[in-house]
Amino acid sequence: MFSKILIANRGEIALRIIRACRELGVRTVSVYSEADKDSLHVRFADEAICIGKAPSSSSYLNIPAIISAAEITDVEAIHPGYGFLAENPHFAEICESCQITFIGPTSENIRLMGDKMTARTTMQKSGLPIVPGSTSTIKTKEEALKTAKSIGYPVIIKAAAGGGGKGMRICHNDIRLISSLMTAQAEAEANFGNPNVYIEKYIEKPRHIEIQILADKHGKALHLGERDCSIQRRHQKLLEESPSPVVDHKLRKRLGELVLKGIKSINYVGVGTVELLFDSKNNHFYFMEMNTRIQVEHPVTEMVTGIDLIKEQIRVAAGERLKIHQEDIRLHGASIECRINAEDYENNFLPSPGKIDFCMLPGGPGVRVDTHIYPGYTISPYYDSLVAKLIVHGNTRQEAIKTMQRALNEFTIEPIKTTIPFHQRIMENTDFLKGDVSTHFVQELLKDESKGEE
Ligand code: ADP
Repeated sequence: MFSKILIANRGEIALRIIRACRELGVRTVSVYSEADKDSLHVRFADEAICIGKAPSSSSYLNIPAIISAAEITDVEAIHPGYGFLAENPHFAEICESCQITFIGPTSENIRLMGDKMTARTTMQKSGLPIVPGSTSTIKTKEEALKTAKSIGYPVIIKAAAGGGGKGMRICHNDIRLISSLMTAQAEAEANFGNPNVYIEKYIEKPRHIEIQILADKHGKALHLGERDCSIQRRHQKLLEESPSPVVDHKLRKRLGELVLKGIKSINYVGVGTVELLFDSKNNHFYFMEMNTRIQVEHPVTEMVTGIDLIKEQIRVAAGERLKIHQEDIRLHGASIECRINAEDYENNFLPSPGKIDFCMLPGGPGVRVDTHIYPGYTISPYYDSLVAKLIVHGNTRQEAIKTMQRALNEFTIEPIKTTIPFHQRIMENTDFLKGDVSTHFVQELLKDESKGEE
């Protein structure tokens, strides 16, 4: 096991990693920007180093500053968390060349799966159905039209190097397809430094279901069930749960086995998530993409499996063998996570940064809060708006919902606006209560609310 690691991240995930390290007996080094000097990840780490100014490009994305901090503090490994440098193969490569263990998959794994076209062909070869679409990147409008004709409208144009729900365009006809192609290519270049795009069939009202996997460096790989992340706004997840109301034991096993075949074919190591779309019209699953890092929503899997994913991630990075066996992994009860963002949902989710004068975190049986906020903490406008993850566990989905309703009522953050009231609306919605949702749920809920006001 490592004796000291550096955490190249901030906010709740940096704190989450520090907690895992404490329990593993690993010392921690935090890095922070000038804007984060009063953050808890700075206070709770064994050592902390300022790596630059507030903008991420000067600090949390500043590779030379992070590597220098790692060298000065003599750490053996770097945990990238999620976002920032977590899926940057170049960063993983630099760590590898500096003899610092990157706590994640190999740079080659990241590069392969980071290119969504390569990821699609890899998974397809392993027998996982992929969303129908192009088999190579689309360069010309003729290629685009040909692909659309073969799969039928509607289609979606996506960036091969995409992420964060950015740069996707839905097209219902030839005219729209041609006009969107060039803008999508330009947007992909501007956002991801790579103009390559591809086309997929646009699945109408799917569910987003993802499979958690965990693999060691000795060829053992496990699947840890699914998360249902259909509650999204603008392709960004807002609420996640495990198990999914539409996945039974038999299906879970089948999907898990297919996914493992895919990741084993590329000798994947570490934690990872394989994202699928579920078309309820024909009960079909399709591979969408793979995320080669720990996900924001990992706690729901931890709650139902009882497995600490961050500790396992660190253990396998240190070369340890996985002690867990596939047959011992069971999903117990149900877990839900609400992402509490500093946003005003009644005002088009406008960011609401600022100082927190008072906060009261919920507690009691079945409640977990992963957060970095405290009274007096100032939410910076420089970073994403996630302020807390409220996670609950119950023996059944209904029990988990009851606990979530109760915990949301207790959760108080003043005076900034948060998405707590929005989650309260979701918890009362009859479709959500029935588990009958799609990725269009939030859009439809907001539409219904604005109609109600007319
Ligand atoms: P990103 O990497 O940018 O997050 P993803 O490929 O994971 O992009 O897609 C994000 C979300 O966009 C999905 O959860 C889903 O809601 C929607 N989406 C992506 N591809 C399709 C598709 N082919 N059909 C319908 N919805 C899609």
